[in-house]
Amino acid sequence: MYKKIEELAWKYNDRVVEWRRHIHSRPELSTQERQTAALVAEVLTGLGVEVRKDVGGHGVVGLVKGEKPGPVVGLRADMDALPMQEDTGLPFASANPGVMHACGHDTHTAMLLGAACVLSEMRSGMEGSVKLIFQPAEELNPTGGAPGMIRDGVLENPRVDALFALHVWPGFETGKIITRAGALMGASDRIFLTASGKTSHGSAPHQGIDAVMIAAQIVGGLQTIVSRVVAPLDSAVISIGTIKGGYRYNVIADRVEMEGTVRTLAPATQDRLPGLIERTAQGIARALGGDCEVKYVRGYPPTMNDPDLFRRVSETVADSLGAEHFVALDNPDLGGEDFSFFARERPSLMAWIGCRPAGKDPAEMAVLHNTRFCPDEACFPWGVRFLTSCALDFLKKKA
Ligand SMILES: [Zn+2]
Ligand SMILES: [Zn+2]
Repeated sequence: MYKKIEELAWKYNDRVVEWRRHIHSRPELSTQERQTAALVAEVLTGLGVEVRKDVGGHGVVGLVKGEKPGPVVGLRADMDALPMQEDTGLPFASANPGVMHACGHDTHTAMLLGAACVLSEMRSGMEGSVKLIFQPAEELNPTGGAPGMIRDGVLENPRVDALFALHVWPGFETGKIITRAGALMGASDRIFLTASGKTSHGSAPHQGIDAVMIAAQIVGGLQTIVSRVVAPLDSAVISIGTIKGGYRYNVIADRVEMEGTVRTLAPATQDRLPGLIERTAQGIARALGGDCEVKYVRGYPPTMNDPDLFRRVSETVADSLGAEHFVALDNPDLGGEDFSFFARERPSLMAWIGCRPAGKDPAEMAVLHNTRFCPDEACFPWGVRFLTSCALDFLKKKA
């Protein structure tokens, strides 16, 4: 079976590359994935796969039905891009100014389409079905696109028993499959802070309350939660990503808005952070005569990999790609991933696929969410083989 999967993965590889480049050059922001979804639906329909459109927004779901009844396994890819200006210089770089596939979701969509091609040629003798889930809005934290698809019944009719997903990962060499049992990625929450003061002339700060000064101290002060309040061997990250305020160079600002992200692994730590952030931000603001409003929005839960699926996938990778392709990760990453919503509903496993060309200095490889992010397309056949092998192994062993 693995031999056949390998042959078919190569057979369709040119098309996978073509789809990836097409999607890459026409990136669409979260909740706006119209053209990408239309392409996906068109390809799946062409393969004779049963297609459901507009699931939880622009989500597309394909069902590859085996010859005989059996379990149902889900494979998930995400389709959305980020509001960034691409700087890769690629011939197929983004044609949409200010929008870029900087998280590799173009590659995930293309690889899942590749898996659809392979699976649709392997239906004979297949016991059970594979549900291909193309989701919108993965980057739309705190909402995400997965909850909408779940509400729209993506995990039912037929009921999905387990799910797998891949994410390209530039820190590892092309073709490696990297995962772990338990938490793979952290909880990702979002914070909105508004520091308030009172305007005055820039030459007379004593007549106002400087919201820029309050904001500056809050940005620094929040880091003491991570370094002084959360235990050293526990994990938390607080990053303020935007800061906006003020009117003019010589006016004391009365309002500064900040937005940031909070990452944790332990549920107890996640529970403590809203109170700690509010206490710190308001304490600092009030000490300076102003105030700070804090809104804490819970986002993606930690991405939890099922231990039993982890064990099975380690065997699948060893048997299909070769044991040297499997990397069992010691520590999770604090990136957020809305596949976590699926993983809360059913036993699931997310793996990363290495996309750093062999021999390339890791320090020169642009990271995810970077304007120069450029994954190695040579990882595609490995990704297609991984997704297909996981799905078919799951059906065989569960049947
Ligand atoms: Zn991302
Ligand atoms: Zn991503």
